[in-house]
Amino acid sequence: MTGGFLREQELHAPWWVCTCFLYCVRTEGGFLLLVYFPLVYSPRYITDLPKFGMRRPFALNRGERVLRRLTEEFAQTITVTEPPPITATDALLVHTPEYLDSLREDVSVWEDLFELSDDDYSPETARCPLTGMWDDVVLKSGGTYLATKLALTHRLAASLGGGFHHAFPGEGRGFCAIHDVAIAIRKLQSEQLCRKVLTVDLDFHQGDGTAVIFGQDPDVFTVSLHSAEGWPSKKSKSDLDVAIYKTEAHLYQEKLEEAISQAMSRFTPELVIFLAGSDLYELDELPGTRFMRLSLSQLRCRDKFVIDYFFDRNIPLAMVFAGGYGEHVWEVHYYAVRHLLQRLGTLPAVSGDGTTE
Ligand SMILES: [Zn+2]
Repeated sequence: MTGGFLREQELHAPWWVCTCFLYCVRTEGGFLLLVYFPLVYSPRYITDLPKFGMRRPFALNRGERVLRRLTEEFAQTITVTEPPPITATDALLVHTPEYLDSLREDVSVWEDLFELSDDDYSPETARCPLTGMWDDVVLKSGGTYLATKLALTHRLAASLGGGFHHAFPGEGRGFCAIHDVAIAIRKLQSEQLCRKVLTVDLDFHQGDGTAVIFGQDPDVFTVSLHSAEGWPSKKSKSDLDVAIYKTEAHLYQEKLEEAISQAMSRFTPELVIFLAGSDLYELDELPGTRFMRLSLSQLRCRDKFVIDYFFDRNIPLAMVFAGGYGEHVWEVHYYAVRHLLQRLGTLPAVSGDGTTE
């Protein structure tokens, strides 16, 4: 069948679900057999920035574009699961109550974490104060948590957003208000769904919030490959950091494979959370990412390696998007999501395409 992507909420509740990725839903005309895709997404992931008086090249429509392209290419209905937001109690698993109160009450906290200036922020044009962004971040954080749960069931899953790796327990920065990945890990641990988690952060920027939050936690192993020259200038200490200089970009894949191998020799994860940032892409439009310019082919190779490495070892992996700016970065995520679904067998391999070899 052809058509657009569907949200489960648009249909009646699934009548029957199984891990072989087929499920049947009741519709007005009878029953419909659909392939289940472990993808988490909501149209609300496209934050309406002008509503808050902001003008920024955040590529918030990456998930939408990925789904649209998959639907066009495979002429197949792509189902997504809409996440519920995390609760304030969930956020307290990582963040201080004082900081969370300030996010709900103090506009200046948001102005600081988004580094807003008169050039890209006009509060007089806003239809909603920046504190209204809270609803946005708890939804996306809920998406990350749901993706980790789906990964534990289906081996691979993705939330088409999230990855706010710069948030600290008592402070937001680098466009990150709350640390969705850390909240998901703490929530899974508190629910005893899993204990030992490996974070593989391949965003352009170092996962400094992740490093600080889990710095003393032997149950979470943090890996960050990032630009040596890029922000933040003062890096935090992950369990394994690989800082890559501009002149070493051609060694990226080699360094990645070495880092994963080293991490796995030191740690045995029950779950991997992969922050698949696209801000290393040569077409990324954030000026600060100019120190690393990887091609689409290099990034496809990166994402294929990570997904395959853990899938082949039967270790569940949840992917989130993390950073990426401008018109073209969605292409990176498109190939990553497509490969993830192809490995699960929910999308067919593309003839002559190297991705699934
Ligand atoms: Zn980034």
